Amino acid sequence: MSDVNCPYCDASLSINHDDGYGYDENVIFHQTCKSCRKVFTYTTVILFSYEAETSECLNGGEHSWEEERGELNAGVEECTDCGEVKVDNEKHEKAIKEYFERLK
Ligand SMILES: [Zn+2]
Ligand SMILES: [Zn+2]
Repeated sequence: MSDVNCPYCDASLSINHDDGYGYDENVIFHQTCKSCRKVFTYTTVILFSYEAETSECLNGGEHSWEEERGELNAGVEECTDCGEVKVDNEKHEKAIKEYFERLK
């Protein structure tokens, strides 16, 4: 998969992002074409993409609670539709207490 074509020789090039270079918007970056060895400039455009989902609970329906994975998340549930989190404090604190008891 190529990112750009060289503006001189039209070779297909991948933008080199080593060390995080070239990710800022509104900055002019430089790269050397690996085919013709000329230096060209490029700017980066960050595209946002979104995915829309239905959410019953935000429309008067029920939350779809799902227990979080992991021992330290016992008693923590997150709605898979709206992202709301609810914590059963008693259950949660008990699990954490038991966890640290075992570490002793
Ligand atoms: Zn070139
Ligand atoms: Zn929800």
